[in-house]
Amino acid sequence: MIDPHLIDPSSADTALIVVDVQNDFCPAGALAVANGDRVVPPINALSNLFSNIILTQDWHPSEHVSFADNQPGKSPFETIPLSYGNQTLRQTLWPAHCVQGTHGAEFHAELDCNRAQLVVRKGFRAEIDSYSAFYENDQSTATGLYGYLKDRGISKLVLAGLATDFCVAWSAIDAVRLGLDATVVLSACAAIDLEGSLQAQLKAMQQAGVRVVDAL
Ligand SMILES: [Zn+2]
Repeated sequence: MIDPHLIDPSSADTALIVVDVQNDFCPAGALAVANGDRVVPPINALSNLFSNIILTQDWHPSEHVSFADNQPGKSPFETIPLSYGNQTLRQTLWPAHCVQGTHGAEFHAELDCNRAQLVVRKGFRAEIDSYSAFYENDQSTATGLYGYLKDRGISKLVLAGLATDFCVAWSAIDAVRLGLDATVVLSACAAIDLEGSLQAQLKAMQQAGVRVVDAL
């Protein structure tokens, strides 16, 4: 439990960000996160408390650069150097997932989406991946979410969804960098945990100033 004065889910300046609760990240999906579907009931319970709900949706063209199939001789979960402008970043390669218009890209059927006010689609540019809901992986191409939040006077975020150590963590860290208040609810998240990535990202979130809690 956290200080209820810090988070008032019904407040106009607060939003729940539900990250990538899509079929491909759930069991039987192309990039299944262990127990990915178990986040759905706690997220639906959280959603009932919030006035503002925003969903993110990983949304790739089939020729996306992050798909191992599109990198000759490479396998999923290998990393490759990718040049973004004048910087080179390590990109993890993934099985093809969340391809635009496919069943895998749809939200989990049990996720309550009816009260969501905005869906942020990310990763739709073939040449760049996007873990964060705010910036693509070059850390400079904006998704537009920050402008939306600013226009609506929303400055406090509660994040949940998939996966803790990638899209949830990157989104939460970017939120804090942008001056927003960010809380991650671990009981409503599930992790990929690739080579220690969960512990590394939990530490990175805490260092960045993200509040990480088990439950609200
Ligand atoms: Zn993706």
